[in-house]
Formats: sequence, C-alpha cells, structure tokens
Amino acid sequence: MSQDHELQRAKELLLAGDIIGLPTETVYGLAASIRNENGLKRIFSIKERPFFDPLIVHICDLEQKGQVIREWPLLADVLAKKFWPGPLTMVLPKHPQLNPLITAGLDTVGLRLPNHEVARAIIRLTGIPLAAPSANKFGKTSPTKAEHVLKAFPKENIYVLDGGQSDVGLESTVITFAIVPNEVPVVSILRPGAITADMLDAALKESGITARLERKTSNESPGHTEHHYMPSIPLLIIEQEQTQMKRSTWDQICADFELPPSSRGAELRLDPNPRLAARALYIRMRECVENGAAFIYVLKRKEQTDGMWDAIWDRLQRAASRVYT
Ligand code: AMP
Ligand code: MG
Repeated sequence: MSQDHELQRAKELLLAGDIIGLPTETVYGLAASIRNENGLKRIFSIKERPFFDPLIVHICDLEQKGQVIREWPLLADVLAKKFWPGPLTMVLPKHPQLNPLITAGLDTVGLRLPNHEVARAIIRLTGIPLAAPSANKFGKTSPTKAEHVLKAFPKENIYVLDGGQSDVGLESTVITFAIVPNEVPVVSILRPGAITADMLDAALKESGITARLERKTSNESPGHTEHHYMPSIPLLIIEQEQTQMKRSTWDQICADFELPPSSRGAELRLDPNPRLAARALYIRMRECVENGAAFIYVLKRKEQTDGMWDAIWDRLQRAASRVYT
C-alpha cells in the first residue's frame, strides 16, 4: 500500500497540473485534478483519447459532490447509500463551473465514489475531486495492476500509486436518470459492471421509490465504441456447442487473419464464478499476449448471461475482432 510520502508526492504532482496513476477497485486510472486544465489535457493526449469521450470524476466522500454536480436527485441518494463506495458511476447534471473538457461539452458528468483506500486517501489529501479514465491507450485493455500502467506508457514517466491488484477488474457500471415530473423515473444502464441490473432493481424496490430500470445498448454512451478493450493480437469469440474449438474454425481463423496454418492460439479460460472471471479477465488477456500466442479465443457458454456475465461479455464482445459460430 502507498505510504504517506508517496501520497504527498502524488498530491504535489496533481496540484502542479501533472497526472498520476490511480488505483481503484475497478481498474487503474490516469488521474488529474478537475481544476487543472493542463492535467486534463494531458490525460487526453497521452491516452490518445478523443475529446468526445467524457471522463468520470472521482470523489472521496458525499460532501465533495457539490464541487462536481448541481443536482442530487433522491434516486441518486438512494443508490449512493446502497452502492457507494463502489463500482457505480452515476451521470448527473454538471456543476456550471466544471471544466467542459471533463464532460466532452455535455451538460452531465459521470460521478463515482471508489471503494479503494488509496484512491480515497489521495483525493482527500488533495482536497479536489479527480477526473480519471482508465490508464491505457484509447481502445486498449484496461490495467488492473500498477505495472500495467507503467507498461502502457513507457516513455511518459508516470507516477503510479501502487494499490495492489484491482479487486473488481472491470470498469464501473454507468447509469443515467430520466426524471420528468409526473412520470415514472427511468434508470438506464449505459455500461454494465459489477453493480448488476438485478442489484439495482432490488435496491430500487427496497427503497420504495417507483422507477423503471432499463439496459441501453451501450453504444448510446459517449465514447463507448463498438471496438474497445482490445488486446494487441486478435481475440475471437467461439459460439459452438463443443467444449473445444472445431479444427475447421482454427483453420478459418488462420486464413482470416493471414496467419500460418500452424499458428498457436491461446484459450482464454473464464472462471465459472463470474466475480472471479471478471477479476482475472484482463490479466488473462495479457498473459495470452505475453506467452507469444498468435491469437486468443474464448468459448461462449449459453448459460453465461445474467448477473456479472453481462459485463464480462460486453467487454469481450468489444475486445473481439470476430465471432465464429
Ligand atoms: P472510462 O474510460 O472507463 O473512465 O469510462 C468513461 C465512460 O463513462 C465514458 O466512455 C462514457 O461511456 C461514460 N460517461 C462518462 N461521463 C458520461 C456522461 N456525462 N454521459 C454519459 N456517459 C458518460
Ligand atoms: Mg477506458
């Protein structure tokens, strides 16, 4: 865990307009002070992230939200009390003074209170919320260990706070609200994550508020592009009944990706427990690449649909170059 002097150093960098590697329970972030435009610009430039993709703002306690948003609906309060600190991002009306770079010019901002001691400690010490996307080049696999951040940006000399391996291993659930007077409010899931639809549904019911929960196709979320989280070699999804890929599919993959017929493919095996599968997902993808495979394949099981499988398969679909049936 990070020591006091490391947190102090990170704070100095953030206040000076630099960026740091931020451990969170979802994935590692590249963080800048929401008040420092140089830091914010640096996030986009080193990630090669398009400016239309908004950043999530991280706070250390509920009091800090007033620096980021201008409205706090009852629904947000209920869900925050249930799931914060934790892997839930809520899209809310932005504070008028919040830098538009953070929100890609939108009138809303993604807000989250992370469940990671080091993340909260550095935000508290700095006294300013931190804008942080995942600490990888745009569209590539997210980092779940400090060393992944250093590897992604070998020349940039980024100061990374080491908070151990990210416990969740997948990006946060992102939700947005549609609240219209005299109508049933709608909670929409823009990006599935560890806070699942069932968990949100149960929390809403328990609160006694009538609300409708819906799952948007995540393409409606800015920046959530069809291809994302991609490893540096092709990843293929195999939807076949067998427990092994057909030989003919193997040959087809080699032909499709112009690989020699004897090329080695690495199977990405998912733990049957979705929480464990999620935690290890990006690490397994990296291992397959590092072991020198020419491609990665993952067998899709029909039963892997509910709960956290939704998030896992959302990421795999976006990371995949092709699906074979
Ligand atoms: P990440 O790169 O993992 O930090 O993810 C940030 C993602 O959160 C963006 O790509 C959007 O999908 C979502 N997001 C952030 N802010 C907003 C917003 N104001 N409206 C809708 N989605 C947002
Ligand atoms: Mg990202």
